[in-house]
Amino acid sequence: MGKKAIKGLWGVVNNPVSLINVFLVAAVIYLSCVVTGVKGTSGPITLLSTTVMEPGNFTLTSEQSGDWRTVRMRVTAYCPCQKCCGKHAKGITASGYKIHRGDTLVAADKKYSFGTEMVIPGYNSGRPVKVLDRGSAIYGNRLDVLFDSHEQALKWGVRDIYVKVRY
Ligand SMILES: [Zn+2]
Repeated sequence: MGKKAIKGLWGVVNNPVSLINVFLVAAVIYLSCVVTGVKGTSGPITLLSTTVMEPGNFTLTSEQSGDWRTVRMRVTAYCPCQKCCGKHAKGITASGYKIHRGDTLVAADKKYSFGTEMVIPGYNSGRPVKVLDRGSAIYGNRLDVLFDSHEQALKWGVRDIYVKVRY
């Protein structure tokens, strides 16, 4: 890199907007290095990559990475009927996913993005289910688990339980 190029770089650094662009370009270069497996292009990049790959930073529970955190939740239940979902219920969740018989999924607050996995004791045989729906009364630490029939939903009732959430 010549003297002229360095001067040009400082011009970029002094301009905050360009600085953001420099960071974005650096991020793209970093990511493409990871994807193509290029190693050791410079000190800081190698260091960052080491930090990200550090296995002690989180616990791998299955094929996806992410922490399971336990949160106490108030869990109610619903079914695709008009009583539960309103007069115009068509069996389509807030995520756009269409409910099929036998499906297990959960409605949760906006802070849990669609696809977030949860383990809800007593539901789906303790296997993880995904957040695929919302509900007007489902905010904060409130959840609504889906059942096929209204009878099953009533049977669930209201449960204050510890739910595992994958972040
Ligand atoms: Zn119902």
